[in-house]
Amino acid sequence: MNSETIFNIIIGIIVVNFLLERWLDWLNDKNSSAVLPEELKGIYDDEKYAKQRAYDKVKGRFSMLSSTFSFVLILAMLFFKGFAFVDAYAKSITDHPIVLPILFFGILMVASDILTTPFSLYSTFVIEEKFGFNRTTIKTYILDKIKGALLGAILGGGFLALFIWFYNSMGTFFWLWTWGAIAIFMVLATMFYASVIVPLFNTLTPLEDGELKTEITKYCQKVGFNLENLFVMDGSKRSSKANAFFSGLGAKKKIVLYDTLANEYSKEEITAVLAHEIGHYKKKHTLVAMIVGVLQMGAMLFILSLVINKPEFSMALGVQEKSFHIGLLVFSMLYSPLSMLIGVLMNVISRKNEYEADNYAKTTYKPEPLVSSLKKLSVDSLSNLTPHPYDVFLNYSHPTLLQRIKALYN
Ligand SMILES: [Zn+2]
Repeated sequence: MNSETIFNIIIGIIVVNFLLERWLDWLNDKNSSAVLPEELKGIYDDEKYAKQRAYDKVKGRFSMLSSTFSFVLILAMLFFKGFAFVDAYAKSITDHPIVLPILFFGILMVASDILTTPFSLYSTFVIEEKFGFNRTTIKTYILDKIKGALLGAILGGGFLALFIWFYNSMGTFFWLWTWGAIAIFMVLATMFYASVIVPLFNTLTPLEDGELKTEITKYCQKVGFNLENLFVMDGSKRSSKANAFFSGLGAKKKIVLYDTLANEYSKEEITAVLAHEIGHYKKKHTLVAMIVGVLQMGAMLFILSLVINKPEFSMALGVQEKSFHIGLLVFSMLYSPLSMLIGVLMNVISRKNEYEADNYAKTTYKPEPLVSSLKKLSVDSLSNLTPHPYDVFLNYSHPTLLQRIKALYN
């Protein structure tokens, strides 16, 4: 395959992906109706439903605008040899085999962050604000940015350095070494996410004594779950939307309830949500997801090792001399359809896991409070209750509210 063909394939992938997104938006739009379908009546009242539709519309227009911007930007970078320009600029500063790629990706990331920040500001402080969700202050927003950037620089930069080092010194099997390092990192990240990463952004506190704790303790004793691992997180610092999640492995496992959930839902509703999260743990969903993630990473690195040394890859972006970082960038673009397919498959598994966790909550606790909390969660976040089935199939990690209610009352 010559460099021109590779270039054309990349453009094709980007265009098809953009058109697919627009098509799904259009399908969703067509699927939404001014009157709520019969089986969903009673979840939204008329006023709230009108608000939900307005929210969907505003978000739809915004996502159209921001994805068109990214689409035009990436095409411009490709057609006007923008990546070759950044490469030449980075090379004018250093030719160190490890520093050069880090600098190259660093420049791209900082530039992309600067260009997308106005969109993120608008989404948080205009759209979310207008619909009453935003609780983030400018200060929290800036601190989040700084912490996120530092974390990205340390983890991303450190990891990239190790990867390049393996590439330069381990020969053909560099991908196996990298895979090993990533696998260790993924296990550690899964284990320590809630104890190391989450506390950088939020405060976790053990659940206070009271009626809620009594109800939860009773349930946890029944199913044999150690309550020491239950925390309340100050999610209200950023948004009024409620949530809960399970994370970690073995002794490091944690269930985290947002304070917005803990404060505004009944004790049965919260216990039902907790039961759902414990279901994920008991059914080993986190463990399986991690193993699948590691295997998938290995396959990707193996494919990468087959193509990274091809000079046509660098030439496709207008860089004459083959280099690790340009090869990696081209690979990531060519790999994206495959990664999308894998994502769809992961969503299928994830939706199956959600049904399993719901069913666990239903059999070990009771279905009614879970249904009522799922309804409340949907209404409070103004979720679209009637997404198009194609969109659900491709992009939804959770079944729709209606599907979950039907399964729970089955
Ligand atoms: Zn779940």
